[in-house]
Amino acid sequence: MDKPDIRSLTLEDLTAQLVSMGERPFRARQIFNWLHGKYVRDMDQMTNISKELREELKIKFTLNNIKIVEKFFSMEDNTVKYLFDIGNDILIESVLMRYSYGNAVCISSQAGCRMGCTFCASTTGGLERDLLAGEMAQQIYEIQRDTGERVSNVVIMGSGEPLDNFDNVLDFLEIIHDKNGNDLSHRHITLSTCGIADKIYELADRRLQITLAISLHAPNDEIRQRTMPIARKYSYDTLLKAAKDYADITKRRVTFEYALIDGINDSKENARELASHLRGIMCHVNLIPVNDVKEAGYIRSSDNKIKTFADVLKDKGIETTIRRRLGSDINAACGQLRKRYKENRGV
Ligand code: SAH
Repeated sequence: MDKPDIRSLTLEDLTAQLVSMGERPFRARQIFNWLHGKYVRDMDQMTNISKELREELKIKFTLNNIKIVEKFFSMEDNTVKYLFDIGNDILIESVLMRYSYGNAVCISSQAGCRMGCTFCASTTGGLERDLLAGEMAQQIYEIQRDTGERVSNVVIMGSGEPLDNFDNVLDFLEIIHDKNGNDLSHRHITLSTCGIADKIYELADRRLQITLAISLHAPNDEIRQRTMPIARKYSYDTLLKAAKDYADITKRRVTFEYALIDGINDSKENARELASHLRGIMCHVNLIPVNDVKEAGYIRSSDNKIKTFADVLKDKGIETTIRRRLGSDINAACGQLRKRYKENRGV
């Protein structure tokens, strides 16, 4: 069996492992702090841990390190896109966005994706592999180390479907907010899903304080099924019921993401229909100008149309914002950079 990655263990699991090795629980806290508070990349950097124990740890565990391959700086804003190698030439990407309130990082939860949304670049090569909890956390740690700046907000909106890698994502959420490590509040974390309704209920049961974002992108089944295969598994009504139940159970407002594609889902009629479905759900709609996908014939809606769409929703009492496009000059949208990089390398 593969050795477990020590950075992917929650403090509780690490403590159980250390105790079974005859160590006291505080040792686990020390090791956890080296990994998640001081961000070490090598067990030998844990200087208050004896050499014997470090050697034992090396035998029992691996320490999977991700490496920065390239960085791309936006000329338009302060956005930086990171391309990481997670081993065996498998690439993932993360994006650092600087806002007035602090630094936000968009992390990947899988290398590739198997959800098949027709507008999304992450899904073209299918799923390569799930990321481990430690590999999700390390995207944040490496960006903090690289910039020397603290990351205050995290969005799980890079490549991958987080609810398709449920257990690892849940471990990541536990690890990242542990006070013995990175200590990031769940209220500053958003998890974005294409809408796996069953898993939304499982997540609701955990009563986490994170924000749930649902990629809706359509006002009805017919349009949603055209662009998102998951819509054939869970109907529009089923998904919206899950969203409503999630908000009711967790008392947290749900965000609906809606990427506007010219002529597909951006008419006034579409906006009215969307508003009628969202009535009664504690929610917020985030309108996103789609990043063009030329092959599929998807073009971004004009600013005018986006504004009109937003006005219809607001008129109907639905709280709506239009997302600023950061880093559009560096292919900062999910999966775009990795795809381009692979094409250039002929992989
Ligand atoms: N699988 C998750 C998270 C990753 S995608 C999800 O589906 O939510 C992050 C967001 O980017 C999703 O809302 C996704 O639909 C959106 N997205 C993907 N391709 C896009 C594109 N070409 N333009 C705009 N948004 C896109």
